[in-house]
Amino acid sequence: MIDSSKHQGQRKQLVNLLKDKGINDNKVLNAIDKVPRHLFMDPALESYSYLDKAFPIASGQTISQPYTVALQTQLLEVKRGEKVLEIGTGSGYQAAILVNLGVKLYTLERKQDLYKKAFRLLNNLGFKPKKTIFQDGTIGLADYAPYDAIIVTAAAETVPKVFLDQLSIGGRLVIPVGKNNQKMTRFTKIRENRIKKEVFGNFRFVPLLKNKA
Ligand code: SAH
Repeated sequence: MIDSSKHQGQRKQLVNLLKDKGINDNKVLNAIDKVPRHLFMDPALESYSYLDKAFPIASGQTISQPYTVALQTQLLEVKRGEKVLEIGTGSGYQAAILVNLGVKLYTLERKQDLYKKAFRLLNNLGFKPKKTIFQDGTIGLADYAPYDAIIVTAAAETVPKVFLDQLSIGGRLVIPVGKNNQKMTRFTKIRENRIKKEVFGNFRFVPLLKNKA
């Protein structure tokens, strides 16, 4: 697994691009600078790793666009040591960014081949989540709730209520909501039964689907 000076240079350029696009959280930009995205890509597409684009991975899924990863991470407003749940491990790239930020990450993936690959890769690279689990994430992960933050990396037509239930007070849920395209939405649990909702622009994600596959 090689991270060359060329890759590192390309990451610096990507960081500058993300700054220009409005990402201003230095911890997030630093994580983008540190995590070798090319190791999470389909090897045939490696040379495109530092373009600000989503790309296909196995099983008809995608590795999210760097801007989307950066924005979702910025909106989560995580602090070191917080407990975070990710729905949709996919390539593991977003998970690596969160682990780099020092959170205790629980990440769920419904497709077994992706789960296995991401589990191995994250461990080999030293971006170790607390738990990587092959499970349908639409029911969240009650065993370790509540979470300081929940990130959903697949499109939800409606917001599963369990995600809000599994947030701690002060907790943030960042989730793309909609059918054909999605509005990036952040829900903050101000107190029990009091949720603040904010919307941050349009995105396109693969769908959040029920059951394991
Ligand atoms: N965070 C990923 C994005 C992957 S795309 C990355 O950085 O690469 C979204 C992923 O969500 C896909 O891998 C898809 O299989 C997964 N997914 C969809 N519905 C799911 C569900 N109900 N539970 C868990 N994972 C799900």
